[in-house]
Amino acid sequence: MRIDLISLFPEFVAQCAAFGVVGRAGERGLLSLYGFNPRDYAEGNYRRVDERPFGGGPGMVMLIDPLRAAIAAARAADPTPARVIYMSPQGARLDQAKVRELASHERLILLCGRYEGVDERLIRAEVDEEISIGDYVLSGGELAAAVIVDAVARLQDGALGDAESAVQDSFEDGLLDCPHYTRPVEHELGSVPAVLMSGNHAQIAQWRRQQSLGRTWQRRPDLLNEAALSKADRKLLAAYQAEVAAAEAAENGSSAATEASAGPDSGPAA
Ligand code: SAM
Repeated sequence: MRIDLISLFPEFVAQCAAFGVVGRAGERGLLSLYGFNPRDYAEGNYRRVDERPFGGGPGMVMLIDPLRAAIAAARAADPTPARVIYMSPQGARLDQAKVRELASHERLILLCGRYEGVDERLIRAEVDEEISIGDYVLSGGELAAAVIVDAVARLQDGALGDAESAVQDSFEDGLLDCPHYTRPVEHELGSVPAVLMSGNHAQIAQWRRQQSLGRTWQRRPDLLNEAALSKADRKLLAAYQAEVAAAEAAENGSSAATEASAGPDSGPAA
């Protein structure tokens, strides 16, 4: 896969992509990153890439022509058609389904804004899609582009040591991942759940599925509403919910008992 970055700071994204799984994907030729800096395509001694907004107001707006020329240079560098994506807080929010879709493209061009953003006419003419990485405002699109580069790189065939690990990740089947444990079995912070030490693969798989369901119910009920649950899933979840309710009742019972024994009327008679 090829990703071109249209950015005033393309090295920023390249740095983020230099480590771990993404760095190895680059070394293995699974992902190539190229930077196109609009400043290199700006005219005049000052190579301006921004101007004050028409209508007044604070900040600066990125000029059409340097961006357009940088996008044209990126397109001309490789005949493979590219999907042009503007990183923008106003775009559709990125999720794992979108990451999978992006990862299936042979080529992406990621446009990173700065300042107040990009002249609207450039977006209308050149951009296929706007993507946001969340409901907050960053000072530039580079971090958002780095998020996309990382998320799509690990989905390239051969990027992960064990391709299964991506399949088990959160969101892949609409649920959050189960908790993970490693050595030592006993630690002052607690023990590893016994089922994981049992060697019984069916039981381990069932425990993991139940933990996934339970965690999603506790942390992201919105996901659970969308997930396609089987009858077996519903049974596992009901058992998890019953366990949580029992633990809460026990907790409430013991704190009520503690309060009662510490209350003004409960002490021994003077
Ligand atoms: N004035 C713009 C607005 O409120 O929609 C925000 C501009 S922001 C300061 C500068 C650049 O950062 C944007 O052009 C965009 O490329 C990037 N950016 C900021 N927040 C982002 C987000 N949540 N997701 C993706 N890109 C973002």
